[in-house]
Amino acid sequence: MVLSKTTSTSDLSVHSTFASRYVRTSLPRFKMAQESIPKEAAYQIITDELMLDGNPRLNLASFVTTWMEPECNKLIMDSINKNYVDMDEYPVTTELQAKSKTAIGVGTVGSSEAIMLAGLAFKRKWQNRRKEKGKPYDKPNIVTGANVQVCWEKFAKYFEVELKEVKLSDGYYVMDPEKAVELVDENTICVAAILGSTLNGEFEDIKRINDLLIQKNKENGWDTPIHVDAASGGFIAPFIYPELEWDFRLPLVKSINVSGHKYGLVYAGIGWVIWRNKEDLPEELIFHINYLGADQPTFTLNFSKGSSQVIAQYYQLIRLGYEGYKNVMENCRDNMLVLREGLEKTGRFEIVSKEEGIPLVAFSLKDNSHFDEFQISDLLRRFGWIVPAYTMPPDAQHVTVLRVVIREDFSRTLAERLMVDIEKVLHELDSLPSKVVASTSVTVPESVNNNDKVKNTDIEIQREMTAVWNRYLLERKKLNDKMNGVC
Ligand SMILES: *Cc1c(COP(=O)(O)O)cnc(C)c1O
Repeated sequence: MVLSKTTSTSDLSVHSTFASRYVRTSLPRFKMAQESIPKEAAYQIITDELMLDGNPRLNLASFVTTWMEPECNKLIMDSINKNYVDMDEYPVTTELQAKSKTAIGVGTVGSSEAIMLAGLAFKRKWQNRRKEKGKPYDKPNIVTGANVQVCWEKFAKYFEVELKEVKLSDGYYVMDPEKAVELVDENTICVAAILGSTLNGEFEDIKRINDLLIQKNKENGWDTPIHVDAASGGFIAPFIYPELEWDFRLPLVKSINVSGHKYGLVYAGIGWVIWRNKEDLPEELIFHINYLGADQPTFTLNFSKGSSQVIAQYYQLIRLGYEGYKNVMENCRDNMLVLREGLEKTGRFEIVSKEEGIPLVAFSLKDNSHFDEFQISDLLRRFGWIVPAYTMPPDAQHVTVLRVVIREDFSRTLAERLMVDIEKVLHELDSLPSKVVASTSVTVPESVNNNDKVKNTDIEIQREMTAVWNRYLLERKKLNDKMNGVC
């Protein structure tokens, strides 16, 4: 390029970073550049681009950890070059993960991998049972609520299992135990219940599902099991709802997955699945590899992965202990209540999350005829807040909610600030239609002097504008739903 010719080709030690030719010319977007560039330039270019990302701490859409103590950050950097699979070379790291002697489980990259593995184990066990009885084993299905996280749909598609979804209904946004158990048939590999629906944080009634399913199994001579997707709730219920029976206390619960990177309080990249008994994990799925010197039983989808997250999880477990996790979860719940009360006080919102459950607030506008939840989400973005709006799955798709997930690092001050900003946004949106009308009222004929008539025209224009706006939003909503990445 002409511009680059005017700059000397000497390196960054002579020119300031931004004046160097590397930063002054644009990088090829879709192919690898022929030449190398200095490390300072590469660093600067990438750092600059990343400035345009949202601030993770203000990303209230996600359950995934965005803050850890500096000591743990250091541990993570110290172990960033260790491959977890090299167990023989890094025996201490391996030992950290193997601290539980009784549970049978496997560490994963997150709950999605954990769920694929749990699902596979159920599918294989069901197939083996059917084969033994000489029955067909080609039409496995799994029963879930329509509120399941997308990884269950992935599991169903990737591993060819029919997903039988219990539809939601108005005001009831989790799997109905009665309807779920009704859907169970001889081909059901398991019922997947969620401890903490991603949509509104509500815990599904796993005890009830267990009791109904025991009954149905007895009547039909089946042994349909339950899996609990405790991606978020697995690290909440034991600390603030210890009485709640959702786990291996219930006889039909055969496996549980948890995301360490959600309320386990570690950065993205760790989860696990545990099985009730050794027999619940078919031996034929376990690979025994003799790699780099030792026998390693493995049941994972990946081979290599980083060790840092395992080490970071160990840090949190020993650093916080039961007491620490309890404190963090209680604090999250308290901040959730502050936000919930603030939203209720505006008188404008219907709260669709429960007080008991994952510390989040999901809320809808009581009146969305003038503006809707998507507009609130858009305007909050201007203050830096990332608050997603989405429509509920069938049969509650007419309900749109905004959702704020309360994580450890979402302090009381931030909760109060967010409330102030929500009120500002409401105020702005309240005044929007009249502003729109004011600017378009020029087109209203001057001759119309009668006040009432002007008002009528105003209202008509306002209605028309609202209708156009709503049509536009509806289209966007449809698009958003497809790309909706609430996680
Ligand atoms: C987040 C989540 C998942 C997916 O977990 P990842 O750890 O992100 O793979 C699955 N189920 C539920 C209920 C979740 O909240």
